[in-house]
Amino acid sequence: MNEPGAVPPWLAQPWQALVLRAAAGHLPGGLLVTGAEGVGKGLLVSALLQRLFCERATGTQPACGECGGCRGFLGGVHPELHDVMPPEPGKDIPVDAVREAGEFLALSGSGDWRVLWLHPADAMNASAANALLKTLEEPPAGGLIVLESARPSALPATIRSRCEDLHLPAPDLEAARDWLAAGAPDSSAVDEAWAASLGRPVVAAELLADPERHAAWRQEREALAELLQTRELHSAVTHLARCNLETLLPRWQALLLSAQRWLVSGEVDRFAAQFPPDRLQAFARERGARGLASLVQESRRWQRQARAQLNPQLRLEDMAAAMLPQATASRLASRGRSGAY
Ligand SMILES: [Zn+2]
Repeated sequence: MNEPGAVPPWLAQPWQALVLRAAAGHLPGGLLVTGAEGVGKGLLVSALLQRLFCERATGTQPACGECGGCRGFLGGVHPELHDVMPPEPGKDIPVDAVREAGEFLALSGSGDWRVLWLHPADAMNASAANALLKTLEEPPAGGLIVLESARPSALPATIRSRCEDLHLPAPDLEAARDWLAAGAPDSSAVDEAWAASLGRPVVAAELLADPERHAAWRQEREALAELLQTRELHSAVTHLARCNLETLLPRWQALLLSAQRWLVSGEVDRFAAQFPPDRLQAFARERGARGLASLVQESRRWQRQARAQLNPQLRLEDMAAAMLPQATASRLASRGRSGAY
């Protein structure tokens, strides 16, 4: 396993730059760390904070992991750090939590740094964001406010304009391979987890560590592989109904994009490599460039609608029907929806 507090390789460069700026007293009062879900925003922030609190490391050395500062941070009880999170995933960060955080930051501490860490910052409701604005306008000396967000556009412009934006791009697999390999039985497991995570290293690591997530991915892969060759709705929908739409839909879209890529360039990308090649190729050839382009567009619509509470069974039928070859689909349509069952 990777050591806690160690800096994953694809984050080493931004991490070092921050550590050097901190040593020179040039960190901004508000730092907004952005990037897609699972690229490692939290890993970067925790490696930075542990390093700031470490009492032994110097220069660009990583945190020692043993001193009082490191142990306090790793144990989640560092007195100079205040975490602000939603009370439950999916809930708002309430205004009281932000007011309390502002009071914490204003108290003078005993160390060089006093830190607020808001994750995810876009969970703040409007009054919470308003309360944070006052703290961001006049951060005390040694005060650092770190906001983490995969959806920075959901933050008020007034908040964003008072923070320095640090965007983390998604790395390529080679930059993350060694880090993932530490938790994987072999390199093909790393390839599979990378494909399943759609190129997000933290998601891939979770998949490698959690047999349930791994089983869910295998089930989705099976349902998608079935869709590539099916000629009738019933079996396709039966497979799909066992899947979680939230993880299935982005993977479904990835499969369509892979089919498109193969048709255009003959390239079998990492996602496509998880599926039987002849099935994917026959599917791509049969739908053709136009058919695939319209399916990709459809799949974007499905993802937008995934948040709406519509009849899931009907939606699965519609989505599966869109994947059928044109001739089969129109035959089913002429018989009416119930005729398919
Ligand atoms: Zn230390």
